Formats: sequence, structure tokens, C-alpha cells
Amino acid sequence: MLLKGQLHIHTTFSDGKLTPQDAADIYAGLGFDFIAITDHDHLLKSNYRKAIESVKTDLIVFYGIELTVFEKGYVHVNRIEGEKEILHVFNHPGEYGLSRKQVLERIHSVAKRYPLDVVEVTDHGFHTPEFDIPEIKYPKLASDDSHNSIGCGRAWIELDCKKNKDSIIRAIRRGDFWNCYERGLKKEKIKGVLTTNQFIL
Ligand SMILES: [Zn+2]
Ligand SMILES: [Zn+2]
Repeated sequence: MLLKGQLHIHTTFSDGKLTPQDAADIYAGLGFDFIAITDHDHLLKSNYRKAIESVKTDLIVFYGIELTVFEKGYVHVNRIEGEKEILHVFNHPGEYGLSRKQVLERIHSVAKRYPLDVVEVTDHGFHTPEFDIPEIKYPKLASDDSHNSIGCGRAWIELDCKKNKDSIIRAIRRGDFWNCYERGLKKEKIKGVLTTNQFIL
């Protein structure tokens, strides 16, 4: 079946503003079928797993964690748990201030430590085309990396598979999904200040 989901969310269990329940309610309201909550490992509060398992929702809610990995500087890797499958995502290559060549090197090094499956091509839900390139030989994943309600629903994926965690992870690993973006949303620099603008088309 056709499913809509988003695999990168922060909550009050690290540096996000939404509780896991708030996040699930917002994404349910946006018509999502699944989400992953992926709070930062170094900021994690206790009872995190229990809080995710206690969310009352019709959504599939994946337990995830954003790992801080030191590889000539810090990079972030999301580890998302299915029933048996585990998905590893190299996160937001555009956020490290690195060149394409350096990003390729970092991905190569991190892949020796974690079984990477996919690489994000978004920065807080905005497409980063400079890293959506064939030289990165992984499926490219769009996600929100949402930390508050305004950051929810900018970028997501859609896929056609059975509605269970492992089928979703396997489809993503195969690259069998579509990246989707909120229509008309783009990010630009105005007078040196990074802003976000939504244009109604
Ligand atoms: Zn991150
Ligand atoms: Zn994040």
C-alpha cells in the first residue's frame, strides 16, 4: 500500500520542542503513516524508549537515535530500529561546512563503522541539491529533521509496501521510495541572513 512517512524528528527528549505525542499528533494530522523519532544520543533524557512506546497513535512510530560520530569532526548518523531490520542514515551532508569531496570521504569512513543504507539530501527539510549527486552511491533520503511544529511537513518520503516496520526499512534500503517536498518551499539568503520563505505558486 502507498505510505507516507518521515524519519528524522527531535522531541523534548533531546533538543526538540515537541513531546513524542505532540509530534505523532502533528504528523497524523498531515496524513502521515509512519514517523521515526530520532533524538540526539548526547542529550538523551531517561525513559526515552518507554516514551516512544507509550505514544497513542495510529501511526507506525519507529524508535531511532541520532548518533554523534567523530570522523575528522562530528557527523550525525541516524539509527532507526524496525522489528528485525535496522536502518542507518548518514544525515544532512550540507550541515557540516564540508566540500563534496570531504563529504564523500566522511561517508566512506563512516561506512566502515556503521552499515550505512541511505544518505539524506535535506537540511531541516530543505533540499540540498549539491549533495544529491550520483557520486554518493546510496539512495538519497528527504526528511524534516524537525525540532518544532513549524519544521514538520517540509520533506517526506512515499513508498509502496506492506504497512510494517521491516517492510518499510527494506523498501528504503532498496531505494524504492520517492522524495517529496512541500510545494513552493525554498530557502535563500537575504542580506547575509539565512531565512526561510514560503511562496504560494
Ligand atoms: Zn543532526
Ligand atoms: Zn537531527
